[in-house]
This record gives sequence, structure tokens and C-alpha cells, in this order.
Amino acid sequence: MAITAQESTGTVTLTIDGREVTAPEGTTIWAAAKAAGIDIPVLCHDERFDPVGVCRMCVVDVGAPAFAASCVRACENGMQVRTDSPEIGRSRTMLTRMLVSDQPPAERDPKQTTTGDNELLALAERFGLGQDGGRAGLPAGSGRGADLSSPVIAVDHDACILCDRCVRACDDIQGNDVIGRSGKGYATLIAFDLRDPMGASSCVSCGECVAACPTGALTNKPINMIPIRPRAELDAVDTVCPYCGVGCALTYYVDRDKGAIAYADGREQPGSQGRLCVKGRYGWDYAASPQRLTVPLIRRDSSYPKGALSADVRGDMAAGGEANDHGMTAGAGPNGSSPKEKRKGGKRGRRPGGLVDYAEVLPHFREATWDEALDLIAARLTAIYADGGPAAIAGFGSAKCSNEEAYLFQKLIRTGFHTNNVDHCTRLCHASSVAALFEGIGSGAVSTTYGDIRNAGVAIVTGSNSTANHPVASSFFKQARRNGTTIIYVDPRADRMADHADIYCQLKPGTDVAFYNGIMHEVIRLGLTDEEYIRTRTSNFEALKATVAAYPPKRAEQITGVPADIIRQVARAWGETRAGIIFWGMGISQHTTGTDNARCLIAMCAITGNIGKPGAGLHPLRGQNNVQGASDMGLIPMFYPDYQKADDPGVKAAFEAAWGTGDLDPKRGLTVTEIIGSALKGGVRGMYMLGENPFLSDPNINKVRKALAKLDFLVVQDIFLTETAEFADVILPASSYMEKDGTYTNTDRRVQLGRKVLDPPGQARVDWQVVQDIARRIGLDWHYESSRQIFEEMVTVIPSYQNLTYDNLGLSGKLYPNPDPEHSDGTVVMFTDKFNTDDGLAHLVPAEWLPAKELPDEEYPFVLNTGRMLEHWHTGTMTRRSYALDTIAPKALVFVSPDDAAWLGLEDGDLARVISRRGAIELETKVSHREAPGNCFIPFHFREAAANLLTIDEIDPWGKIPEFKFCAVRIEKARG
Ligand code: SF4
Ligand code: SF4
Repeated sequence: MAITAQESTGTVTLTIDGREVTAPEGTTIWAAAKAAGIDIPVLCHDERFDPVGVCRMCVVDVGAPAFAASCVRACENGMQVRTDSPEIGRSRTMLTRMLVSDQPPAERDPKQTTTGDNELLALAERFGLGQDGGRAGLPAGSGRGADLSSPVIAVDHDACILCDRCVRACDDIQGNDVIGRSGKGYATLIAFDLRDPMGASSCVSCGECVAACPTGALTNKPINMIPIRPRAELDAVDTVCPYCGVGCALTYYVDRDKGAIAYADGREQPGSQGRLCVKGRYGWDYAASPQRLTVPLIRRDSSYPKGALSADVRGDMAAGGEANDHGMTAGAGPNGSSPKEKRKGGKRGRRPGGLVDYAEVLPHFREATWDEALDLIAARLTAIYADGGPAAIAGFGSAKCSNEEAYLFQKLIRTGFHTNNVDHCTRLCHASSVAALFEGIGSGAVSTTYGDIRNAGVAIVTGSNSTANHPVASSFFKQARRNGTTIIYVDPRADRMADHADIYCQLKPGTDVAFYNGIMHEVIRLGLTDEEYIRTRTSNFEALKATVAAYPPKRAEQITGVPADIIRQVARAWGETRAGIIFWGMGISQHTTGTDNARCLIAMCAITGNIGKPGAGLHPLRGQNNVQGASDMGLIPMFYPDYQKADDPGVKAAFEAAWGTGDLDPKRGLTVTEIIGSALKGGVRGMYMLGENPFLSDPNINKVRKALAKLDFLVVQDIFLTETAEFADVILPASSYMEKDGTYTNTDRRVQLGRKVLDPPGQARVDWQVVQDIARRIGLDWHYESSRQIFEEMVTVIPSYQNLTYDNLGLSGKLYPNPDPEHSDGTVVMFTDKFNTDDGLAHLVPAEWLPAKELPDEEYPFVLNTGRMLEHWHTGTMTRRSYALDTIAPKALVFVSPDDAAWLGLEDGDLARVISRRGAIELETKVSHREAPGNCFIPFHFREAAANLLTIDEIDPWGKIPEFKFCAVRIEKARG
């Protein structure tokens, strides 16, 4: 084909079915035809993957002796294409007939494939082969067998047409690299790892392969014993995943006859792009658990004085009970019972399971009407307030609730009880990041989206087990690396992300400041700073330079354990990149030096000019689905909505005017950990907890146990009976995520609409309505009628959410700030010209490295790190009631290195006893090459081996976040 003038403009013009079509150079014929509204059938092709052209279903006539596969053949200038003709039709029909001839018998056809229809059978019908694809009389399938070893995915090899869609979905989209091919000729199969059963392979059950499969070869198993009906018979509800801050868009397919979700599928949205992880795709059945709270409960008079109600929450059966042998108090029940006394009764034993024992706890409560429960709450909280004043009341809201609920909850505490003692779990995840970001750039939100990694030259992922905690975001990290982004992973644990890194730095726990000071020292020494950016967009560079001067790579190596040459290599890569982005998680924030750690990351970006342009910036990966939104809503003690300072008289006056109230609290309130401390001393006496479970989530459980027991009055509003609810006076049955409308703000600042999927069970009610009912009973004149109405009020006091409405959020939501109501997607890159600080500059704050508060010693020689697993979520209330998630990951584990395991005489599966100065737990050993010698890791989801019995409650002085990532423990082989 001759070069034409058009080619130099980057487009080509051709004729498809007689129509002139112009397309960008390199466009395939299939894509050009689709853009022109011409449908060419495909089987192996999916637009999200690189085309492979193996099935030949999409062949077209380009005037050559043989037909061309349109999914791989690029358009050319002057090309004459026919997408259909009798000959092409015969070819497609013959191909379809041959593929169908190997399919399993019709009675094995799945009712549902995630693509909606069995695409092969749909083609058979389209080509006149009948509904069964003309299988009658044909041999029954290829006999290649099935693999039912995964709890969530059924593999029918007979139905596999070897189109490789699943292989590409697993590799190219999710970056999991599990599926390949095995065997030769007719015996060829898709294979998991080294032809392992799927359930025993490295598969992480993301279901992306199921979503890609065009036949019945890979299908979802029914999660809740309800057979999955064809998609056309199900009700599709577009909403958002209820788990992590990635906020993946999904659709629940609901069987209305059964009143239950049948399955979930990812849907398109600019962030998640149709992807899901195992929690989003398979972890939704908790909402239908028979253990849902369905009626208000009031503690029986006979169950006072108050204390925990079940043996394990009292500590009687926890291994920690014996911690008293080590001078600790793990088993001391708040009601005065000693663990020894309890054990006399012969109840000593290890707890078998992971849920509150309803049979043990429920008899301590009686059912009540909503009116009775709400009246009691209003009367008791009002009385405590009248007696003790604002300081006696506190509220914990929830990052699982919607923006509207978070907004109303903080408004209730602030206007009803005139206190700023309102907080939520952000205190336990990114409070230090937010403190550093506010100080440094005047905003606590991310400066760019996780998807912007595609524009980055270098990405540092630090203190973040992203493949477990933000799985879909991590799939974009892995994909970016395949497209050329250099990934530098920095973490004491060699998590899966380390397998996908160009440079992995296994630093010692708690040495982040020294590591990043070492990098900055070298960046400055090599002259790789952005002088213009430093001069025009930052302040305090000289002080930073003076501090990092004391951290040459050799000294950084001594502190961090990362070789000086690697530190130099990272510094050069970071300093020389055209665009650098940093993602961080709780390995940075959950330290007593969390704010210092984040200060270093801000400085890393600022001195190299890496904030405010595509592919560059700061992204603390948010944990819960709405932790960003709950913070934006002011569910924090130091800020009113939109981070307006609670101790600023002007802000106070503005909110008094906006809310039509007087006497807002003029000072900052107490944080989560401070409220627990205050309750212990009798300061805070009345609490309202909406969807929080501090008994398991807060550090040093023994202290939390005593504080909860000491409260005069505690209201717990939740969907299940939690450990914390055992200390409640009143328990209110809440609605799950699936049972209400509302907005949620993800880690990217994307505000999305969550839509009601199911009705709440029994008398359970939508949370904002309950908050309003309490507000009205204590004298607030509230008359909200919908979450939309609350949103409309909220936006008037949250300038960052301006130009967002329920109507313009659409199916994809929008990033805030949104420059105008009609803007397509809001702002990706922030701070392009200036920062939100008073002077518009980034304030560089130098930090000196400080050792952790409790270092290992002879008696407690290991460093304990705590965190999440892929399959579980926080205190396990949802995920441990999800069939798929609890089946895949049913047990509490302590991860230790092979060297340490050998030294301790432990093997995989052995029962280990982990002891700190505060308590002891027993759990199974997992020998893992991902742990460094001297360190161990325990997920904190498991109440029967609660990691937070061991942790210390030291906090970061600025963010007030506890130290969840570092305390000293001893590990022994357990006796029993
Ligand atoms: S479920 Fe996910 S990880 Fe497992 S094989 Fe399929 S795509 Fe790969
Ligand atoms: S990555 Fe997060 S938001 Fe996405 S599906 Fe998984 S848990 Fe849900």
C-alpha cells in the first residue's frame, strides 16, 4: 500500500461494507467496524485484551486469497472490506458447528455465564444451528473432565474452546499469571500453575477468568445454595463494592423470587474498569446471613453490672488468659471474674470458631420496640450530657456507612451534644497521612488517581500489601509495569507486590524515615532535584536538606538494612524519572512515626517536582470503602465537614449559622484512642457506636475491654452482634450496604452512588433514619426525607463537593473537585499550579528517624506486624459470614520465616503461641518466605486469636494513630 498524505496525519481511510470509514492508524478492522456500528462476531476477542486472532470467527474479506482475522488485522488506506457474505457466513457457521461438536451435552449448559450468555451457543443460534447448537446425536463432549476444587469457580474443560480469554484476563488484566495451557493436540487444557487443581493453585479467586470466558468452561458456583438462573431472569442493580477504598463498580444480579443476590459482576467505570477481587465478586452473601440483627435489643436488668458476655470476649478462653502468668491482665473480666475461676468450671479450651456465640450472648438482651429503644437512648444520653456536659459524650461513626450517614452522625454529636468527640476508623488507618498531607500541601486527599500510574515513569509502592488490601488497584500497578513503568516496592514483608517489582527494598520495620532520608540525601547529592519547582512551589527546603545530609546511604543502610547501593539505585531512578508517583498504605501510617513517614514521602515528591502533573503525585491508598468520604464529611474530632478546623472561631460560627444552632464545641474533640482512654478514667460515659467494633480493631484489647465495660451507657448500631455489642446497653439492628441508597467516596476522590439492592431483614432500618430518630428525640428539628436531600445539604457546607449532584454522578460517579456540573469525570491531577496551604506552597517538614517504642529484646525477640489478608476484612464481621471468603481463608495464622520456624521448631500448621507484654494468643503457623527473619505477621481479623491482644497503644503524636506495625513478641510452640 502506498504511503499517502493521510498516513502522515495518523489516520487511515478504508471502505467497510461500502461505507467509507476513517480510523486512527493501527486500528484493527474489527475496532473500526465497531466504531462505525458494524458488528463482526467474535469468540476469542475481548476489547480489554490484546487480540490474538486464534478462533477465526471474526474473519472478513479484504480482497486477498484468504479471509483475514479482523481482530488482529490493521486497517490500511484504501482497503475494501466485506464483513459478511455467504462465503463468510458458511465459514463462521462451519467453525461454530465444529466448536459446538465438542461441547458437553446440553443438560450441562450453565444457566449463567458471566458474560451473560454462552457466547458460543448464542452464535450457534445466530447461524441457524438451533438452541442446542446442533449437538443432538453428537458424542458428549471431549471427555477432558472438570475441576471443581475451587470453592467459587467451576471448571468444565469439555466446554473450553481454548480461546485464551481466561489466560489473558488472568495475566494481562489482573497480573496474576496463574493460567496457561498444558498438554498437546486434542488433550490440550487450560492449566492452573503446574496443572494443579484450581483450588490448590496460586489462584486468588478474583473471577476475572470467569468474567472473560465465552462458554460454560469457567462459571461461578452458586454462593448461597440458590441455583443461578439465566441473567435475563435476574434483576441487575448497578452499585459499588462495599469493601475497600478502591471502590470498584459492580452489578449485583438479584433473584427477586428468592430475595437474594445470585452473583456479582464488575462493570465499567474509569477507575476499576470492570475488575473485581475475590471480596467484591464473591463476598456479598454476609448480608443474607441468618445472624443478621433484626430487632432492637435492650440489656436485661439481670445482666448488670455491665461487662463482656461471652467467655472469649471476657478473655476466659483466650490463650491470653494465661498471660497472667507473665504479669498481664488479658483474662481479667470487667465484671470481676478471674480467668482462673472460669477455668475451674472446666471450660478451658481453645475456641473453635470465629463468630460471637449468639447462644451465649443473646439471652442477656430482651427484644424491644424501636420506640422503646430509641426513647431509652435519648433519655440516657441526655441525662449523661446533663450531668457530665459535652465531655461525657462521644460517638464513633463508620467508614462503611455512606457520606450522608457520616454527615448526619457527626452533625448529631456536634449539634445534639455540643462536643467534637466524634471519630471513626480513619484514626486507625491514615490519620497520620492526613496530618502530614494537611501540614504539607493543605489537603488530605490523594493528589492523583491510582490509574494515573499508567503515566508514571517510576512508581514507589511502600508500606502497602496492595495485592491483598487494594487488589484491583494493584492490578493496575502490575499492568503499568508491563507497559514500562518502573515499580519500586519498599516493605519489610516481601508480599506478592515484591514479585512484580523492578527493585524490592526489604527494609527493617520502623525504619522508613531513615530510608527516605537516605534517598533524598542521594537525590540532592546527585543534583537530581527540580530546582525550579523547589524555588517556586515549596518552602523550607534548606532545613530539609540539612536534615537529610545526616543520612548518607551508608548510614541509611545501617538503620534500614537495605544495601547502600540499592538506596543509590532507587535515588537515581526516582531523581531521573520524568514522572514519579508514590502509593502508600498502613505500613507507613500505622506507626508512632507515621506522620514523619508521610512527611518524607511528601518531601520526596516535592523536591523532584512530582506533584501536580500526570503520572506524578501522592496517593495514600484508603482502606475502607468510604473512609475518604467519612473524613470529608467531618467524622473526625479536629475538623468540621471539608476539613474546616474545629477550633477556628470563624468556622464554628459558620457552622452554627449553617446548621441553625448555637454552642458548637469551640475546641477539638478526642480521637478514637483518646476516647477509650477517657472512658477508662470515667470522662466519656455515654457512647453511640455506629458500625464500629473497637473491641477487635483497637490496640491493646485489654484496655479497650475495661473502657467499654466502664461506660455508663453504650448504644451499638450494627448489622451483627459484634464483640463490642456485648458491652452495649442497647443494640440497634442496622442496614447493610446492600439495603440503602447513598454516596461513597473512594481512594481516588471518586464520589459514587451506591444503590439499594435488597430490603433490610426484619425490623432492621436504614441508618440515617435511625440517626435522625435519635436526633429528633433529643430535640433536634430534623426532617430529612431521603439520602438525596441530605446530600443536597451536605454539598452546601462542603465546597470540595460542589457541582456534584445525585443526577450528575451517573453510573461512574465523579472525582471531586468537579470543575463544573457537566464535567465528564472531575479532576484527576490536583495542585497543578498551587497547593491548598495558606501561601500556596508545599511545606517541607524534615523528620529525624526515631526507633520504635517497644524494641525486641531477649525475652520478646520478634517484631510483630499486623494487617489484613486478601480474603478478610477488618474484624471479620462481614467476611467471616461470607461463605466464599471464610472457606478460602478460615484460620488465624502467624506468618514466620523459614529460618525462624526452624529455630523455633515449628512447621506449617503447628500451633504456635505468640506472647507480648500485654497478652498471648494461639494460632497456626504459616512458614512463609515472604517474612524476614526476626519478624512475624498476624492478620487482625480473627477474634479467636486477636492480634490486638498483643499490640501496644502508643500513638503518633500528630495523627494520634496507634502503632499496629511494631511491638515485641515471643513465639513458642503451643503445648495443646
Ligand atoms: S480467578 Fe483470577 S487468579 Fe484465579 S485463575 Fe481466574 S483470573 Fe486467575
Ligand atoms: S479491590 Fe476493593 S473495591 Fe475492588 S472488588 Fe476488591 S474489595 Fe471491592
